[in-house]
Amino acid sequence: MDPLLVITPQGLYCPQGDFFIDPWAKVHRAVITHAHADHARAGHQYYLCHTDSAPLLKLRLGESIQVQTLGYGEVLNVRGVHISFYPSGHVIGAAQVSISYQGQVWVVSGDYKVVDDGLTPAFEPVRCHVFVSESTFGLPVYHWAPQEILQRRLVQWVHDVRGRGQIPVLIGYSLGKAQRLLHMLKDEALSCWLHPAIYAIHEALLAHQPALARKLPPVQLFQPPGNRKALQDGVLLIPPAARESKWLDRLEPCVTGYCSGWMQIRGRARQQTADAAFAISDHADWPGLIAAIEATQAEEVWVTHGYAHTLARYLREEKHLHAIDIQSPFTEETEE
Ligand SMILES: [Zn+2]
Ligand SMILES: [Zn+2]
Repeated sequence: MDPLLVITPQGLYCPQGDFFIDPWAKVHRAVITHAHADHARAGHQYYLCHTDSAPLLKLRLGESIQVQTLGYGEVLNVRGVHISFYPSGHVIGAAQVSISYQGQVWVVSGDYKVVDDGLTPAFEPVRCHVFVSESTFGLPVYHWAPQEILQRRLVQWVHDVRGRGQIPVLIGYSLGKAQRLLHMLKDEALSCWLHPAIYAIHEALLAHQPALARKLPPVQLFQPPGNRKALQDGVLLIPPAARESKWLDRLEPCVTGYCSGWMQIRGRARQQTADAAFAISDHADWPGLIAAIEATQAEEVWVTHGYAHTLARYLREEKHLHAIDIQSPFTEETEE
């Protein structure tokens, strides 16, 4: 039987259904796992994504894009190929893409995390013949602390900084990390101020899913340069790109906390020149990747997007799976 996916210069392609999954060059039909920039590129003619990803895709790529949507568990038949989405637990709207054709099931994970963060629909393992797994944190050194401990550390730090009369500034990606941090801070009776990029995503999410308001605290837009006084009763969230901007200088004394899986490695944390580092990630850690892969019961695993070589070798040598690493133009600094 012919494979359901092949690797092309534009990315993963399904010849039977004539569509790509998360292609990195412009194509006719793109199935998109989630709205992060390295997966959802501009310029495709037709997009297919999860219902909750559509507003984010439009926010990032423009209202005029052609988007078709599918809920989790729904099935779309494209030339006899059945496409369905399953939660990947990565960010709101993120999906694993299952494609089945003539009894063969292949699943493309997109980015995923196996820990239930209480906000994002939890990762659901899907039995398949071939599993295409990401490997952003595919090294044994990546092993996340339990969610409750991460939350306790984060909350404690925010209160400590405020107790010293300083402004806590949390740095994290605007889609995924920011909502997760807000969810962690929800019961702290703090004013949550958001950088415009994070605020725009917040608004788009709530407009589409009003029920999210129960899981997130009230927020306010912080418009640079802003009013320093206003920040004194709360916490400010900014994306990594805004950290170097001049307006943060004017907010002195502010104290920064960088929230990313990369913070697990001390050297990397130091490079980021933040005052504090929290290894909070929306990707699976090493044990999470291996557990997720085993749960699919796949005989063949394609590893991509990160430490593909290391993880594929481990799966071959230790788990006796037919595992290969496939090249993608993205290795490390992907949104997470
Ligand atoms: Zn992602
Ligand atoms: Zn990614």
